[in-house]
Amino acid sequence: MHIKELVLDGFKSFGRTTRIPFYEDFTVVTGPNGSGKSNIIDGVLFALGLARTRGIRAEKLTDLIYNPGHADGSDDGESGTSGPKEATVTVVLDNGDGTLDRAQVVNAAGSDNVGDVDEIRVKRRVKETEDNYYSYYYLNGRACNLSDIQDLLAQAGITPEGYNVVMQGDVTEIINMTAYQRRGIIDEIAGVAEFDAKKEDAFEE
Ligand code: ATP
Ligand code: MG
Repeated sequence: MHIKELVLDGFKSFGRTTRIPFYEDFTVVTGPNGSGKSNIIDGVLFALGLARTRGIRAEKLTDLIYNPGHADGSDDGESGTSGPKEATVTVVLDNGDGTLDRAQVVNAAGSDNVGDVDEIRVKRRVKETEDNYYSYYYLNGRACNLSDIQDLLAQAGITPEGYNVVMQGDVTEIINMTAYQRRGIIDEIAGVAEFDAKKEDAFEE
C-alpha cells in the first residue's frame, strides 16, 4: 500500500484545490523556501490523524486553515472573512495489493457503501465558525471517527507511534539512542510493541 495522491483544499498555504501525485517507489518534492513543501507532509499527518506524536507544525487546529494574510505577515486572525473557513485534506491510498480487505474497510466505515476498496480515501475536514471549530473524518466518503481511521490504518501498519513518517531530527535522535531504546523502535515497526502493551494491560487486570 502506498499514497497515490494527496488533495489539499484550504489547508495552510493551499488556498486552491491542489492535487499532488505520489509514485509507488519514490517521490521528491522540491521548491524554494516557504513554498509549502513541509505543508504537504503536515497535510498527510493531519488527514491520517498521525499528528499527535509526530509534531504537526501548528499551535491550534484552526491555524491549519488557509489564511490569505499569512504570508505577508498581516495575520490579524481575520482569515477568509469572505466564504467559509474550512480546510480539507484527502489522502488517497492505493490498496491495489489488497493490504486491507473489503471487510476491514466496511467494518471501519460502519457501512457497506464504501465503493471500490482498491482505493482508500481518508479525508479530514476542519471547519471554523464564529465561536467554535469542528473536525470531521471520512473513509471512502462515509463519516467516521478518528479511532475508526486509526484502527484501520494500524491494520496496514500505519500508526502514530510508527516510523511511516520520519521527521526532521528523528534520524539524529535514533542515532543517539541506547541500544535498548533502538530495540523499541524495531518492536514498534515489527508490530510487536502493540502486543507487549496489550500483554502488560492484561497482567495488570
Ligand atoms: P523550507 O524549504 O524553508 O522548509 P517549505 O517549502 O517546507 O520551506 P512550508 O513550511 O511548507 O515551506 O511553508 C511555509 C509557508 O506556508 C509560509 O509562507 C507560510 O506563510 C505558509 N502558511 C502556513 N500556514 C498558512 C496558513 N494557514 N495560510 C496561508 N499560508 C500559510
Ligand atoms: Mg520545510
